[in-house]
Amino acid sequence: MLKMYERNGVLCAEGLIETIGQKVFLYMVDGLLIDSGPEKLREELLSLFQENDFDQLVLTHNHEDHTGNAAWIQNNLAKPIFIHPQGLSECLGAGDYPNYRRITWGGREAFSPQPVSAAIQSRNLKWRILHTPGHTDDHIALYNEERKLLFTGDLYVAARTKVSMKTESVPKIMSSIRLLLDNEFTAIYCSHAGYLENGRELLEQKLRYLEAISVKATALAAGGESAQQIADTLLPGNYPIIRFSEKEWDTVHLIRSILDEPLF
Ligand SMILES: [Zn+2]
Repeated sequence: MLKMYERNGVLCAEGLIETIGQKVFLYMVDGLLIDSGPEKLREELLSLFQENDFDQLVLTHNHEDHTGNAAWIQNNLAKPIFIHPQGLSECLGAGDYPNYRRITWGGREAFSPQPVSAAIQSRNLKWRILHTPGHTDDHIALYNEERKLLFTGDLYVAARTKVSMKTESVPKIMSSIRLLLDNEFTAIYCSHAGYLENGRELLEQKLRYLEAISVKATALAAGGESAQQIADTLLPGNYPIIRFSEKEWDTVHLIRSILDEPLF
């Protein structure tokens, strides 16, 4: 069941992928829809798309749990769709990703988005588009200074990240979090953790955590340990996602991305 409620004038749509217990949040504010959700939730999301008046869809990044209904919106509602220029070509073809993601989120049909500008206008509000790579290269956050609204896509998700995707970069995630923290806000709207009243604090916590891991990993690497040994030392534990994803997610990817961009 899709839950819909309002937080600070933003319509929040909260869906649940029951097979993995993962939540997905879509937001609508001032005629702006942020992300389209996964195909698996399409039937539930149709009420959000059809019963609420919106003018444009902005995608925080190209992943299928954010873009899974973009083609439907383009074909049925003919709304303009925007994504960071680096995500454009990915969207022009059908989603090409591993089977476990297809099972979890569903498919992602091709659609034709436009490149988002550095600033966009909704009915009454002006938004700054903050390029915040790290989770993906095309990741953006949306910020409205007047009302201090910040949509962070998949940049936050959790404070103490243990596993990451092969394509993620912890150093880039840290720079992106610092970029967000340069702006004035206290709450954030996260695509998987929802509306977080103390979002600034949580982003600061995440940054400190990743900084600490980076310093420790760098020191261990200088002592001759391999990325896998460092991962086993700093991020011990059993993470089912590693096997489930056939290692597209792993603790070692997180460590490797740190060692790829040396601190000193
Ligand atoms: Zn993502």
